[in-house]
Parts: sequence; C-alpha cells; structure tokens
Amino acid sequence: MDTQPFIRIENVTKTFGEEVAVNNLSLDIGKNELFSLLGASGCGKTTLLRMIAGFEKPTSGRIIIDGVDLTNIPPFERPVNTVFQSYALFPHMTVEQNVAFGLKQEKTPKSEIEDRVASMLKMVELEGMRKRKPHQMSGGQRQRVALARALIKLPKVLLLDEPLAALDKKLRERTQFELVNIQELTGITFIMVTHDQEEAMTMSSRIGVMNAGMLQQVGTPSQIYEYPHSRYVADFIGEANIFEGILQKEDESNAYIECRELGQDFSIKRHDFAENNAPVAVMIRPEKMRITLEEEISDELNSVAGTVKDIAYLGDMSIYHVELESGRVLQASQLNFQHTAERKITWGDEVLLYWHPDNAVVLAQ
Ligand code: ATP
Repeated sequence: MDTQPFIRIENVTKTFGEEVAVNNLSLDIGKNELFSLLGASGCGKTTLLRMIAGFEKPTSGRIIIDGVDLTNIPPFERPVNTVFQSYALFPHMTVEQNVAFGLKQEKTPKSEIEDRVASMLKMVELEGMRKRKPHQMSGGQRQRVALARALIKLPKVLLLDEPLAALDKKLRERTQFELVNIQELTGITFIMVTHDQEEAMTMSSRIGVMNAGMLQQVGTPSQIYEYPHSRYVADFIGEANIFEGILQKEDESNAYIECRELGQDFSIKRHDFAENNAPVAVMIRPEKMRITLEEEISDELNSVAGTVKDIAYLGDMSIYHVELESGRVLQASQLNFQHTAERKITWGDEVLLYWHPDNAVVLAQ
C-alpha cells in the first residue's frame, strides 16, 4: 500500500433523524486496493458507500480522494462510478449503447467512443454480444455490462454495491475471479459492499468489518480470520469456538487460561492484549482442533476429551460437535480423506480434541 492514502474517510458520521447509520468512522484506502466493507444488514455499509459516491452527504466529517475534499462536489463531478446491485442497465439499449452512454453524455468524439467501447467489451469478454439487449443476456453477462459501463469513464474509484448478489453460487464464484482480474488490469481502486464473508475473503486486498455504524476491524483476509480482535469479528467470519477464562501469564511468550467451560486449564502463546489475571475470551477455529479416537503423546498440544454428539457431513469435510464433561459443546472440522489406519469417527464415540497453543487467540474486546 502507498504511504499516502488514496481515499481518506475522516471522522464521518451520518444520521437519519435519531438513527446513527455511520458513527464517526475513519478509514484510509490505498490506490490499487480491492477493499471490502463487510457487515450484517443495517450496519451502515451502503450508507458509507453512498457518501463516497455523493448520493448522501455526511452529517459531519470529510471524504478525500486523491487529495481532493469531495464534501461539496456533486456525484456526477466526482472521480467515482458505481455498479449497483440491480445493475441499472437501460433495457431498451443494446450492450454497446449501454456501455457508450457515459461517454456520449460527455460529448466524446464518436470514433473515440467506438474505440473505447470495443476495448471495454473485450476486457469483459462480451465482444460477441454488442448488439444484444439486457433481457437477452444471463445475469453474469448483465453484470459485466454494468461493470464495463462503469469503468469506461476511467473513474479513480469504482464502488460496487453487492455486485454479485443476483448470481447463483457457481457463477458468483467465477465472477469473483473475473472482478479481481479486472481490478488488477485497470489499477482502479475498488470498494465493494458485501454481507457475504466468503466473497470478501476471496476477493479483497483488505476488509473492513462493520457493526452498528463503526469499523470493528480492518485487515487483510488472513489477519481478520486468524487474528480477530473481537468476539464480533471472530463470530462473524467463519466458525469459532470461544471460551471465557482467566489469563495467567508465565513469561513473555507463555501463558495459560483457567477455563471452567473446558473443566481444565490450557496453554496459549499470544496474549499481548490482556493483563495478567484478567478475564478474557479466547477463540479456536474448528479446523485448528484435531479430533482423534486414540490418545497422542505430546507435551506441546492441549487436549480435552469428549463425546461426539453430531456430525455435519459437507462432502469435502465433516464438522464434529463434541460434548465435554463440563457440558460445553465444541466444534472440530476435519477434511474427509481416506484413513486406512483409523476407523471412521461416528456418533457417540469417545474422542480427544488436540490443539496447539499458537492457535488459541485472545480476543481484545
Ligand atoms: P443492508 O446490507 O441491509 O443493505 P447496510 O449495512 O448497507 O444494510 P445501511 O443501508 O447503510 O445498512 O443502513 C444503515 C442504517 O441506516 C439502517 O438502520 C437503515 O435503516 C438506516 N437508513 C439507511 N438509509 C436511510 C434513509 N434514507 N432514511 C432513514 N434511515 C436510513
């Protein structure tokens, strides 16, 4: 990321009457990023996007793009374009006319329009469909027309509001890669709003997780997944086993958690956030818990015994719900490759769960 942020959102608040949709939010986004705003319905992500586009005015705060304060600049004069969830294509116009629309409005010379439309359609791989109308195309193709139409004016920033929501799962996955490729090809900054965590994880350079008008955490997909700062983020992204306990530090790098829910103590490595003796919440992802029928001898790993209560078979992997003696149920997931040495784990089995102290993350909030 450039040292100088390309987009700077400075203490932005937006209220609608009593409702605070965006609450004193600050965020820097670098050029060339594909940044995702991720959060549950009503968390304020669309409102933030609409303020960047200029469709809403912040109640307070500033938005700066490439060094220019946009506060008093109307939407059509901003170096920003939006791809809406509905695509908002003109139904009576052909693909070509839809894509050319913005340049025509600007009275760009005809030959230049033709060249630019041709190269845009090539980029989104719709050269063969230039004469079709939107209703003669699939959802994925319409999505690409909307993208071409938004990109042709070479905005500095492209805003995407749930751009893949209308597509089925397979097509959505393919289109995710296409969008990332187009972002890399054009070097335009993309800001995408989504409530789909998988989509945000697959596509983004960084993700901002929003809740109640505020950013809970900003980071790369792996930072957000591996080291969530809060319970909210740990729970929102992926599955998480979360325990309450008391942190006991041994030295700089070792500590353990006194944990009633587990009925025993367990070791952890990372505890930078919390004080000694403090009550903390600790997260362990289900795939970081190894489930076995046989005891393993290890000084390093934590382990706890339980009984398999439920198994969700997902094809490539299974998720085991294991009840401990304390009554607490933990989730452990395992890839389904062929084990010849060990018999398959099934309902009612007495099992052991093992995890490495490195994989237990103390949540700061
Ligand atoms: P979704 O994923 O459902 O679109 P969101 O995270 O994009 O949700 P916003 O649309 O930004 O959420 O809405 C944030 C809050 O502001 C909501 O409580 C919403 O009801 C409120 N809100 C948004 N727009 C307006 C408006 N024009 N008038 C009044 N309240 C609004």
